[in-house]
Amino acid sequence: MDEGDLRHLRRCVELAAEALEKGDEPFGSVLVSADGKTLAEGHNEVASGDRTRHPEFELARWSASHLTPEERAGATVYTSGEHCPMCAAAHAWVGLGRIVYAVSSEQLSTWLTGLGVPPSPVRPLPIHEVAPGVTVEGPAEELSDQVHALHRRFHRGKP
Ligand SMILES: [Zn+2]
Repeated sequence: MDEGDLRHLRRCVELAAEALEKGDEPFGSVLVSADGKTLAEGHNEVASGDRTRHPEFELARWSASHLTPEERAGATVYTSGEHCPMCAAAHAWVGLGRIVYAVSSEQLSTWLTGLGVPPSPVRPLPIHEVAPGVTVEGPAEELSDQVHALHRRFHRGKP
């Protein structure tokens, strides 16, 4: 993980904060081409009632209709929280490249349990359990406090 990766991850954290401002769960993701250009970005939109509206899932589907297989393979998905199994599967099915995340599903599960949040209906498997062929980097320790704070605010309304 280099400075360029961290720059994209910081943008993911900004998007997560935007989601929180809108009353949604604080998760954000960015799709970046092989030459470092931001192609698309998004944040959780599950407050609509559709709990599959994760940004990584949206980016995978966007890439399938806008990019060639070669472009997808060369692209990187940056995300504030490690892909859940649904999103990891979508990422692998459309043939996207590397994933870089700020905090792992394991970190997040520990935090949410600490906040008294009921367990998710989907087991928080690491990406490599679902999509063993995908190159994955993370977590980025320098961002973990910031991401943790966003989740505390969402679940407790406290800074
Ligand atoms: Zn997901």
